[in-house]
Amino acid sequence: MGMALKVRLEVAAKPAIEVCMVLSWLRRRRRRRCFERPLSGPWRTFLLANFAHYKWLTEVERARLDGLTQILVAEKNWEGCNGLVMTDEVKVTIAAQAALLAIGLHEEYFDSILSVLVYPSGYVARETVQQPGGVVLERESPRLGEASSVGAIVLSWPDVLESGRIPDDGSNVVYHEFAHALDLQGHGFDGAPLLESRDQYQTWSEVMTAEYHRLIRRTRRGFDTLLDPYGTVSEAEFFAVATESFFEQPLDMQQEHPQLFELFRNFFHQDPAERFRRAGYGTQSAKNQDTIP
Ligand SMILES: [Zn+2]
Repeated sequence: MGMALKVRLEVAAKPAIEVCMVLSWLRRRRRRRCFERPLSGPWRTFLLANFAHYKWLTEVERARLDGLTQILVAEKNWEGCNGLVMTDEVKVTIAAQAALLAIGLHEEYFDSILSVLVYPSGYVARETVQQPGGVVLERESPRLGEASSVGAIVLSWPDVLESGRIPDDGSNVVYHEFAHALDLQGHGFDGAPLLESRDQYQTWSEVMTAEYHRLIRRTRRGFDTLLDPYGTVSEAEFFAVATESFFEQPLDMQQEHPQLFELFRNFFHQDPAERFRRAGYGTQSAKNQDTIP
């Protein structure tokens, strides 16, 4: 894809140090302004229509999400592909869902992502292929998307809309792809984002490894699972589908995978289960009551 080449060139061109310092000062100033500026009426209307979680946020969470959304809209290179006309609605709907992942994270602006490419429908990519340069292609049709280590995320607009409007089906293509972006900031596509301490890496590795193999075992035995079986493809995909569940089915996840839920609550510094309870979700019946270890 031509885009990948363009992004590579941007990465390769190293500006002089003083230019970097000016840029980072300008960026900090712009980010501060974005945080201070309230979201415009039309943008808020897009979010109320397209992003069901938006209504459930506390005032503090919403202020942070509004700021982050404006930063992501301002900083990323947004491109419509195959005839999709890029609009504020497309940008804001994607940026806000990505921002939800980051409202509890310190200084997380998805800096590794330079571009967001949006298609008017799913495009053809049938396998998961780890290519040179760290590009991973997704294969599952309802969530066609792509995250690459050279800085582009590719999404299909109908899937983005469905993801945003249906808040509780465990599936969200934006969370999925931006979870890959968080993962990449760790040590490549390995299912571990950047963590704060050596202890956290230890706990992360123990819990994630156990849960990953549990999903593989249950899927092999043909059990229905809360986590998407697509997570068995690799540790990186496991982190991405677990992120989808954490934000979309937190009450079930808390019940069925308490350690994993706790791990994610500590990492993301937010509690979607609390949010769902506030939104009136009560005692959901857990899907899997059996006790396969
Ligand atoms: Zn994926």
